[in-house]
Amino acid sequence: MAETFRNYIGGEWRAAVKGATFESLNPAHTGEVIGVFQRSTAEDVALAVEAAASAQRAWREVPVPERGEMLYTVARLMEERKEELAQLMTREMGKVIKEARGDVQEGIDMAKYIAGEGRRYFGQTVPSELRDKFCMTVRQPIGVVGLITPWNFPIAIPCWKMMPALLCGNAVVLKPAEDTPACATRLVEIFIEAGYPKGVINLVTGYGEEAGQPLLEHPGVAAISFTGSSDVGRFIAATCGQNLKRVSLELGGKNAIVVMDDADLELVIDGAIWGGFGTAGQRCTASSRLIVEKSVVREVEERLVARAEALKIGDGLRPEVEVGPVVNSDQLRRVDSYTAIGRDEGARLLTGGRVLTEEGLGDGYFYAPTVFGSVEPHMRVAQEEIFGPTVSVIPVDSFDHAIEVANGTQYGLSLAIYTRDVNRAFRAINRLEAGIVYVNAPTIGAEIQLPFGGIKGTGNGHREAGSTAIDQFSEIKSVFVDYSGHLQRAQIDNRE
Ligand code: NAP
Ligand code: MG
Repeated sequence: MAETFRNYIGGEWRAAVKGATFESLNPAHTGEVIGVFQRSTAEDVALAVEAAASAQRAWREVPVPERGEMLYTVARLMEERKEELAQLMTREMGKVIKEARGDVQEGIDMAKYIAGEGRRYFGQTVPSELRDKFCMTVRQPIGVVGLITPWNFPIAIPCWKMMPALLCGNAVVLKPAEDTPACATRLVEIFIEAGYPKGVINLVTGYGEEAGQPLLEHPGVAAISFTGSSDVGRFIAATCGQNLKRVSLELGGKNAIVVMDDADLELVIDGAIWGGFGTAGQRCTASSRLIVEKSVVREVEERLVARAEALKIGDGLRPEVEVGPVVNSDQLRRVDSYTAIGRDEGARLLTGGRVLTEEGLGDGYFYAPTVFGSVEPHMRVAQEEIFGPTVSVIPVDSFDHAIEVANGTQYGLSLAIYTRDVNRAFRAINRLEAGIVYVNAPTIGAEIQLPFGGIKGTGNGHREAGSTAIDQFSEIKSVFVDYSGHLQRAQIDNRE
């Protein structure tokens, strides 16, 4: 019998008010139930928001460095449990164990970085145009923030949001993806152990429409931080807009690696394989397009196909496995449907393009690493986020053509260029329309000390991580202190 887990509300583990539950499954062996979780509704969300609002009043008074230091404890506990968390992650959503360890490590890195932010937490001090007057900014908490997260980075993304949100003096209500509630629950247990006061952290598991949506609508939630698909993001932005609620969105991508004819092709193929098939292509930054100068496209295709066919596929807990399953049956169907779409559009299927049912894979959601050649930029496989192990190779005539194709989607998360020409590299850095650009590396591999996020259809102007992490979760207050002892009118008294 699988263990039953509860919501965490106001410092207590509680069953959902309506009593319904759901299961989290292992996508590599769908008969394995990871756990049974509360299928929460608006009633549970309301309890969580009330608990958060009442706890936040005291939490905001705790000095920021002290709030920061608690994250060092979180980091230590996460380090102690890194392997346990990574194994749970592989079982719950399928990414291979090395990548799962990396996911936990991103959370640890973020804890240490944001902990230090507690002793910076800079404002501005600027001169006044008047005598005996002082001008500065201070950061203030927003209040109760709702965090809605996807399943593909089930530890890292909740950490990216919770850590800065808590440092800034907010109380949080976390609604994790329905595919990864166990990872979220174990993470919340670590925060509890680190000593966060009751009510400051609340966890409400369940489905997006039932448990996520009430967070958007609850008047007690001052801000929403969302990472997920662009479709859901658009709905969330609209709902938050109606309620004049602050909202930050990290959405989909259709990232590309541009390959110039002077590139080191060995390096290109290493990057394309890792960027395209890592996490079975289920990364917002996955290198799902390969934009290649015509003179080298044949060679790139051949080498890519050979390497894709050699990838070891299976249960990500086995150390030799390089590509795990996709997360669930819907995702498997979706990925497969894009194979049909690509074929119908006239792209050449070079390898893969099928559900794997071989020995040992039959009871999981495994899809063959797939490469399409002769893809044209307007095709759906070149425009839409597939979120699976499917890479489209798009031939181009020149550098300018490559940049135009790279920029020619609705998304703007991550773009890369491989070239040995430094002038071309810097021109690309300037012209690529994306929040993140790589030179001679694939579109994945962000480090938490730089801002992370996208432009165009990937987001609404916010950046997570780096020095910008705290912007999303704090309000700026401008403060003027007049110590002259008489009324001074700016723009007037000093202009006579
Ligand atoms: P998703 O389907 O958009 O779901 C994300 C979260 O939103 C889940 O917790 C989901 O709950 C919830 N949700 C769904 N409908 C909702 C509603 N009506 N109201 C409130 N919440 C709702 O995305 P996903 O499939 O989990 O993740 C994959 C997507 O995330 C991809 O598009 C990927 O590019 C994107 N992503 C972006 C970044 C980035 O930083 N830019 C990073 C990682 C992933 P359920 O789980 O119950 O559906
Ligand atoms: Mg699962």
